[in-house]
Amino acid sequence: MVLDEPGRPLRAAEVPRPEPGPGQLLLRVHACAVCRTDLHVADGELPEPKLPLVLGHQIVATDVESGARVGVPWLGWADGECRYCLSGRENLCDRALFTGYQVDGGYAEYAVADRRFCLPLPDGYSDLQVAPLLCAGLIGYRSLVAAGEAGRLGLYGFGASAHIVAQVARHQGRRVFAFVRAGDDEAARFALSLGAEWAGDSLGPPPEELDAAIIFAPVGELVPAALRAVAKGGTVVCAGIHMSDIPSFPYELLWGERVLRSVANLTRQDGHEFLALAPQVPVRTEIETFPLADANEALARLRAGRIRGSAVLVPD
Ligand SMILES: [Zn+2]
Ligand SMILES: [Zn+2]
Repeated sequence: MVLDEPGRPLRAAEVPRPEPGPGQLLLRVHACAVCRTDLHVADGELPEPKLPLVLGHQIVATDVESGARVGVPWLGWADGECRYCLSGRENLCDRALFTGYQVDGGYAEYAVADRRFCLPLPDGYSDLQVAPLLCAGLIGYRSLVAAGEAGRLGLYGFGASAHIVAQVARHQGRRVFAFVRAGDDEAARFALSLGAEWAGDSLGPPPEELDAAIIFAPVGELVPAALRAVAKGGTVVCAGIHMSDIPSFPYELLWGERVLRSVANLTRQDGHEFLALAPQVPVRTEIETFPLADANEALARLRAGRIRGSAVLVPD
């Protein structure tokens, strides 16, 4: 499924099988989960994608040569030599290449990927069930670590990431509060079924102060709302790659050593840590599967907030 230009639907196309370059694996794709970032790329909210482009950065595949099952995440390549890479922050590498953005991704039957950036996948998960761990899970995990030791955790936007993070947070003994769009009773029920002790309106107050909040929804208005919801010393983490403008707010909301930060991309270290942790929880992913040819339908459903858990594309 090819993106010719942002703002246009993906187009089903027969293209030549990609040729692996030096250090790359040729991969047969079994599943590719859909991420909100795919929507941001398709909608032209992220600058200068490779075009034409194959989206998709939560790829579950087998290496055609060895038969090994691997996962391909968003970080497709980093230079390994800049000040960020040399200080354990390859997620911030200026020259990084991202899967399904600057290099072709997994909305396809075949893909190529740098072998050093492929991740081993835990046994005990099917191809479909493991796919959402590769970004929804990974970025969620990095965001949870960034939130610190918070015992009372707020999750804004209860989609693919939050449904995984809630399970990890409960496993760690934290209390989870879910913030959903006003009137979205189904999302509220979903959150409660995954261990949240409260679910309510994302712009309203929680029943008590929180120690940290993670914002997954790409909605700038949630930043002051979340700052208002956290106690002194609390952290608000913006987990998405794109967000609408943040409205101005009184300094009082930040005062009291509240911390506002973003989380950008992932490191391979995050991948190894989280994929080892997930089966211990154990994280169970809720998925809706779509044939690869219905990728536009999956993206439209995600845009409308009508996916429970994560959408996963499956080639024929
Ligand atoms: Zn670098
Ligand atoms: Zn993603």
